[in-house]
Amino acid sequence: MIIKRYGDKILKQKCVPVAKEELLTLDGLVEEMIKTMRANKGAGLAAPQVGVKKRFFVAEVDGDLRVLFNPKITKKSRKKVEMEEGCLSLPGVFIFLERPDKIEIEFLDRQGKKCQIKASGLPARVFQHEIDHLDGKMMIDRLGLLLRLKLKKSLKKS
Ligand SMILES: [Zn+2]
Repeated sequence: MIIKRYGDKILKQKCVPVAKEELLTLDGLVEEMIKTMRANKGAGLAAPQVGVKKRFFVAEVDGDLRVLFNPKITKKSRKKVEMEEGCLSLPGVFIFLERPDKIEIEFLDRQGKKCQIKASGLPARVFQHEIDHLDGKMMIDRLGLLLRLKLKKSLKKS
């Protein structure tokens, strides 16, 4: 699959929830996204990154593969940590961002079962990054204005 790059309109749009009846029809797409994520050595890939405006993503951290439909963060720790992030839609760009250390997420799994998980460290980071994509937000949108302008300039040059 072709990964949409920063600047593509779809990456700025809010994605729509997936209906339960729709889940099975998305199975092939999910498999393709997992393959694409692995082929590009990514830790996560959200549907809008492959041109699909729906609320789901795939993620794999330390061999733990997850597919989350309609994910919603229900709890965030007050403690924030700074970590470096990259994005398959912004190849070669790595930035340090502060985000909550621990989160709880509600979502539907591939069978449509309602699930709840707690995450911290790297998985929590990946999930938050991917959920941002579903809301039309990219990691650089979370930078301060000055840093963002600087980065945009250097992106245009390259
Ligand atoms: Zn990303």
